[in-house]
Amino acid sequence: MVYIVGAGPGAEDLITVRGLKLLQKADVVIYAGSLVNPGLLKETKEGCRIHDSGKMTLEDVMQEIEGAEQEGLMTVRLHTGDPCIYGAIREQMDAMDARGISYEICPGVSSFCGAAAALPMEYTLPEISQSVVITRMEGRTSVPKRESIRSFAAHQATMVIFLSAGMLKALSGELMAGGYDSATPAAIVYKATWPEEKVVRCTVGSLAEAGEREGIRKTALIIVGNTVAQSGYLRSKLYDPEFETEFRRSSHS
Ligand code: SAH
Repeated sequence: MVYIVGAGPGAEDLITVRGLKLLQKADVVIYAGSLVNPGLLKETKEGCRIHDSGKMTLEDVMQEIEGAEQEGLMTVRLHTGDPCIYGAIREQMDAMDARGISYEICPGVSSFCGAAAALPMEYTLPEISQSVVITRMEGRTSVPKRESIRSFAAHQATMVIFLSAGMLKALSGELMAGGYDSATPAAIVYKATWPEEKVVRCTVGSLAEAGEREGIRKTALIIVGNTVAQSGYLRSKLYDPEFETEFRRSSHS
């Protein structure tokens, strides 16, 4: 059996209880060395075989998994954040399906949640934005044309941009070409929830300058939109004494 486990955004204690239990039981662990906190490996049992997937191809990973399956061992494939976001897990699942290997996903706390906690902010503020766009700039992996930063920027929703800290100048240009004013608030969150976490507040127009000043080129998220200011919103209906909910009667009734 293979468990695809989300390790969380960085801090060792932000793995889920289920994920931790699986890690403690694993005979084989294949972890994404560049982003998973190595401190988590202390949780593995004695004799657990540990591999850093940063040095492996998909074929290498599958060879390890197949070998473990033949020996009747349990494998944890440990991904950073939540595996469903830029985790390249579909190709692993397809390869396992083709070999008749059973697997299950254990979710994790994605870095976009870790970044919101670091700021701290709510991405969805009534009247300002009720949507979060998770996207990236095109890199070695292409992005479909209809999903350009420019086209998403036209919505003025909250945007969380992954895998783009090395392209801040181009990112800033795309955001403005799409309709964000250069003064729109923005933030760069580097290594959210790690001890070396850094939160840099700037504007859409000053993203590149802010990144350069702080020396941030990778392992960061860029958050943009009017919600970043965290002001000017309407309070929620859910906790308003004027309104009734399924669970609470209004103060008038
Ligand atoms: N599955 C992961 C994302 C993997 S893609 C998740 O759910 O978070 C790798 C990218 O995620 C990095 O380039 C960076 O943009 C972002 N990232 C991962 N961990 C981060 C962290 N702790 N702080 C800020 N950004 C992070």
